[in-house]
Amino acid sequence: MLKIAVLYPDLLGTYGDGGNGLVLLERARRRGIDASLAAVGLHEDVPDASIYLLGGGEDGPQRLACDLLAKGSFSSRVESGAHVVAVCAGLQILGHSFSVEGNEEYAGLGLVDVVTRRGSSRSVGELAVRVGDRWLVGFENHGGRTTLGSDIAALGAVARGRGNDGVVDGYRSQRIWATYAHGPVLAMNPWFADEVLATVLGEELEPLASVADRLYAERCATLSLRPLE
Ligand code: GLN
Repeated sequence: MLKIAVLYPDLLGTYGDGGNGLVLLERARRRGIDASLAAVGLHEDVPDASIYLLGGGEDGPQRLACDLLAKGSFSSRVESGAHVVAVCAGLQILGHSFSVEGNEEYAGLGLVDVVTRRGSSRSVGELAVRVGDRWLVGFENHGGRTTLGSDIAALGAVARGRGNDGVVDGYRSQRIWATYAHGPVLAMNPWFADEVLATVLGEELEPLASVADRLYAERCATLSLRPLE
């Protein structure tokens, strides 16, 4: 059974990033894969899950979400095998520290070797990232700039927008995908949703055609992103 858990959508759901959970659930179920989706509310324990989803959030809710996650079992569950897709505030929370409003540095969960500092301006607008031979599209709205440690790989190279620093976006470790892209990113990038699903399930998936394919192609065309394959 694939267990999907969206963490604190009340705090980390500014741009409907909780929709990432629905996308994984539907893409699994349409292939006949048994899957469940939990939305974890404030002050609820973090349940056992195959994959956790963390979304974006404003500075205050982001700090509260970080405090709640630090107190519970989230980190140990990730360290013992769970997967994570983290967007924007979620991406920052998993790192060593983030400084958002007023440059105040705040301790993150330290699960990933990255640090986020306040930039001189917000990064707002379209975001397009080359991930291997695919484009990942979405939009960004954040004040943080993220620096990767020497042992952590970026998710991809920025072609439009800023992502972490104008050069790369997000990060990718064995079980964690992180990006600045809202959308929800798994709705806008069906190939990415399937890459996550296949990795979590440890199996190849049958192709699954849906309206998301056409919307993705239209988005890439609108952004003048040439096909990479
Ligand atoms: N509060 C963070 C920042 O501004 C994250 C914003 C977001 O998740 N959209 O950098």
